[in-house]
Amino acid sequence: MKPQDDIVYLKGVGPSRAKVLASELDIRTASQLLEYYPYRYIDRSSLATVASLTEESGLVALRGKVSNMQITSTGRYRERLTVDFSDGTGTIQLVWFQGTKWVREKLKPNTEYLILGKPTVFNGQWQMTHPELEVENGERRTENVKYMPVYTTTEKMKQSGLGTRALARLTETLCDCIAGLDETLPPDVMAKYHLLPRSEALRAIHYPASQQQLDAARTRLKFEELFFLQLDYQWAHSARLQHSVGRVFASVGDYFNRFYSEHLPFPLTGAQKRVIREVRDDLRSGRQMNRLLQGDVGSGKTLVALMCMLLALDNGSQACLMAPTEILATQHYQTFCRMLEGLSIGVELLIGSVKAADKKRIKADIAAGKTHIVIGTHALIEDDVRFRDLGLVVIDEQHRFGVEQRSKLWAKATPPPHVLVMTATPIPRTLAMTLYGDLDCSIIDELPPGRHPVRTFHRTEPRRPLVFSFLKKQIDAGRQVYIVYPLIHESEKLDLRDLEAGLDMVLSYFPRPQYQVSMVHGGLSADEKAFEMRRFKEGKTHIMVATTVIEVGVDVPNATVMVIENAEHFGLSQLHQLRGRVGRGADQSYCILMTKDQLSYTSQERIRTMCATTDGFQIAEADLRLRGPGDIQGLQQSGVLDLKMASIVDDEPLVRATRNEVHDILAADPALTAHPILAQYIKHSKNKQLWSKIS
Ligand code: ADP
Ligand code: MG
Repeated sequence: MKPQDDIVYLKGVGPSRAKVLASELDIRTASQLLEYYPYRYIDRSSLATVASLTEESGLVALRGKVSNMQITSTGRYRERLTVDFSDGTGTIQLVWFQGTKWVREKLKPNTEYLILGKPTVFNGQWQMTHPELEVENGERRTENVKYMPVYTTTEKMKQSGLGTRALARLTETLCDCIAGLDETLPPDVMAKYHLLPRSEALRAIHYPASQQQLDAARTRLKFEELFFLQLDYQWAHSARLQHSVGRVFASVGDYFNRFYSEHLPFPLTGAQKRVIREVRDDLRSGRQMNRLLQGDVGSGKTLVALMCMLLALDNGSQACLMAPTEILATQHYQTFCRMLEGLSIGVELLIGSVKAADKKRIKADIAAGKTHIVIGTHALIEDDVRFRDLGLVVIDEQHRFGVEQRSKLWAKATPPPHVLVMTATPIPRTLAMTLYGDLDCSIIDELPPGRHPVRTFHRTEPRRPLVFSFLKKQIDAGRQVYIVYPLIHESEKLDLRDLEAGLDMVLSYFPRPQYQVSMVHGGLSADEKAFEMRRFKEGKTHIMVATTVIEVGVDVPNATVMVIENAEHFGLSQLHQLRGRVGRGADQSYCILMTKDQLSYTSQERIRTMCATTDGFQIAEADLRLRGPGDIQGLQQSGVLDLKMASIVDDEPLVRATRNEVHDILAADPALTAHPILAQYIKHSKNKQLWSKIS
């Protein structure tokens, strides 16, 4: 049998089981079955004994003999079969409700069996329902196997005679044809990392001779998975670099230089300077820039975006900035207008709530090139927004925009505009290394000077009076305060009720006119939201009671306290974003996480992480550990979730190693002419178009 052969021809399979394998596990060929790895092993040299069973034993294997078979009729055509199974240390009752006839014929006294199943206690006696069973040493050819593989099976598979022991017999047969498997990794990589050959690793993953060999097999198979994931991404990356045509922004001109020397409100941090340099190199390279800018909240991404846009203007192009919410777009617009005052740059705001007549004028100005910089929301994407010459697109808080939306912006100019994507929340390093293997990545890893890390506390309801008196002290000292409520209910109405109840409580502690309170939530119109935001920003109100509409980007440096109500309902990255709203000025800021008393393990861990660190990268790592990659936005098409053996969470060293190896290979041999196996893989890879989904 050859690896690519149809599984139906494998001895012990046949048409009906082949069908089940296909429908339940998507396994159709011999090599696919070989890549169906055991999830655990049973050590035959130390099998469980009946005497040692506990309620927590889980799946166990026992060796022993049967006696005392009994059949009870339980209805027409139905019977219950029980048999005593003893291993010398005790007796457990085996029970069958189905397939009893087959079992009856198979079971023989005085024969040693190996059984596999989950023991339970029933009427004070150990029992095992529908165990898997085989004659010890009778049916296996590999007599000296120390570890028995255990495979995940479904109910339907078991009913078709494809339980874990049956699968083990199939993989055992398959091991015979393994020698014919081709190696997939380059020999020098194998040598460098001392990797097992593919055929050996596959044999050992099903039938390891020792723990050591099993570890080596796992490492090899993980390496392979991650290696090809990297190859997919990095191939896409280098293909894009080779084929993309970008406009060349060769010069740094008056806009940039005048802004830099006369308008810069504060010296740039080293990290900001580095990123601007990286962008500038991209812009004059002749290739389209596709750069991801990662920086923690408050690291000053907006200023970097603005200066990059000036580079586009210096070369006669227009630039636009797309933000996920109207509040944010409006805020960016105000920041830009303030910073660019006196530079004769046309800046416009284009959001849904702009009046129709104004929209028309703004669009005409954009088309005519009178407007140099446009800031907006999704409204920018609409077909009737035409640019005279769009040279640079900046996308803020990247994850909120879908792929299609972004690609629409590309289409607004030929050659397509350069793209700078700014993330709101750092991405764990391992993920960034895989997911963004195809993007160029810049990191701002330095906060502006003079920032004090926000101090974070966890409080429960009984201490609310203390929390509120603390807020009072801060407000009396001239500071401002956020109080944020999560969206808990499905219905906006109910959420609003929580918010309003909260507002009542706040108002009773902070009576007007001495204290002024703003409230912002999703139910308000854009105008109303902007009005409330402005009052807060201008210091006319002391407290901002809000739902998470203020989560991203809002910048009010005088605000020093962030109270997050029902904090257990927020995810880590959201908590981090919210906390990032304070600590933006020179004063010490605080974040107070209010929760109920009893918290689940993961809630506790989230709160603990928040209190322990303000580093967005560490928080991202913790988030990935707590939630697993499955719940992280944007990963669904990444291939990361399809990994069979490797884990993006636990295998960081391997992620790093494979990334470097693939990088070196592609750098030395971009067309993979010296690596025919890898070239072949790329040719058939289903992830070929991956990069287009991402940027
Ligand atoms: P984010 O990266 O979260 O988008 P912002 O761009 O909103 O951060 O910047 C956060 C705050 O830091 C703003 O108030 C901004 O004016 C200020 N800021 C940005 N760069 C510097 C700098 N180099 N020195 C001092 N303050 C800065
Ligand atoms: Mg921002």
